[in-house]
Amino acid sequence: MRVLVLGAGGREQAIAWACRRHGHDVRLAADLGDASPDDTDLVIPGPEAALVAGAADECARRGIPCFGPTAALAELEASKGFARDLATALDIPGPAYARFDPARSERVVDDAIAWWSALDRPVVVKLDGLAAGKGVTVPASDGETRAAIVDAAAAGPFVLEERISGPECSLLALCDGTTAVALPLAQDHKRIGEGDTGPNTGGMGAYAPAPVAHTADDLLATFVQPVVDHFAAAGTPYVGVIFAGLMSTGNGPRLIEYNVRFGDPEAQAVLPLLATDLAELALAAANGSIGDVPLTIDDRSAVTVVAAAAGYPGTPESGATITDRGDDGDAIRFDAGVTDGRTSGGRVLAVTGLGDDLAAARDAAYRRLAAIEFAGMQHRRDIAWRAPGAGFRSYAEAGVD
Ligand code: AMP
Repeated sequence: MRVLVLGAGGREQAIAWACRRHGHDVRLAADLGDASPDDTDLVIPGPEAALVAGAADECARRGIPCFGPTAALAELEASKGFARDLATALDIPGPAYARFDPARSERVVDDAIAWWSALDRPVVVKLDGLAAGKGVTVPASDGETRAAIVDAAAAGPFVLEERISGPECSLLALCDGTTAVALPLAQDHKRIGEGDTGPNTGGMGAYAPAPVAHTADDLLATFVQPVVDHFAAAGTPYVGVIFAGLMSTGNGPRLIEYNVRFGDPEAQAVLPLLATDLAELALAAANGSIGDVPLTIDDRSAVTVVAAAAGYPGTPESGATITDRGDDGDAIRFDAGVTDGRTSGGRVLAVTGLGDDLAAARDAAYRRLAAIEFAGMQHRRDIAWRAPGAGFRSYAEAGVD
């Protein structure tokens, strides 16, 4: 198959890798360009922005099969308020929430503070639009909560949510309009600093399968299948990835958010564990017949470690020469911000180690990373530290202050 992957990050490299290993001819491009059914058998959009901008709709107009939802369905990620309303209508468990729109009420800050007072619990403030992972504030105090509400109201519509707590996991499901199949559960590390401290990033690492109390299939039945059923019944079948961000609370698993595409870096951890041909699955999904393709998951584990440029997650420094003395054995290098052997982005590359368990996968990832160098390289030494059995002994032993 001639597969066009839209996007250029590490996630897109992982999608390309999962297709190329089955012999497909894959090209990456920023947009559809003049792609047609004569030269392209399948399009897989990587980033949400491409989907929100209508990449799948345009593929449908051109007659090219596309593994991704229409712009209208991408609202599931683009509007956190829409996602919460839908989840509530479908009885999908989530935190208490309320939507606020400064365009509809002049007293929106007062309204939001009144809702928070009545809830009488800590809240999280979320901008109701695509914010590239930067639209969520988890305030540490009442003062910060007020400030976050004022800032959000100045920016546009927003959502307040009851703050819940517990380990998080990412459920990635492949959907064909009626059926959804689950990939191994993943966990990512969003903070720049070891011990999950410091500013948020696009993601500094991930691992799979994540040892959580629920199976991927149980979570799929609760958090994804009702959404797929809803869109099918509405006559707008959902094709593509539904990524449910979940939190295991004392009261059971709860929905944090939906995304409409693979996660980055979750894709780099999860896709190497997919033994089935991703292109074949994606094409079957686009044709409404994913059930015809047997899903085989490698029973090994994967650990992905991101190497970021100096300055990230602020302004990254570009142009550092990358040296790599290693080769891919039981690990894979996925480039993200690399141009002509030099750094050209915040997250520069990721390595994914594979092994019989998380500890072996972790070792493989860090062995591979040890062969790579560039000036100012930042990476975390504790990816998968929360997972029992991942072989992370202690911060002191790892040389982490
Ligand atoms: P989101 O972009 O919605 O996934 O939010 C980013 C991060 O904020 C999540 O991964 C959680 O760590 C945190 N978060 C989001 N919503 C909540 C919530 N209701 N309670 C506690 N933490 C949350």
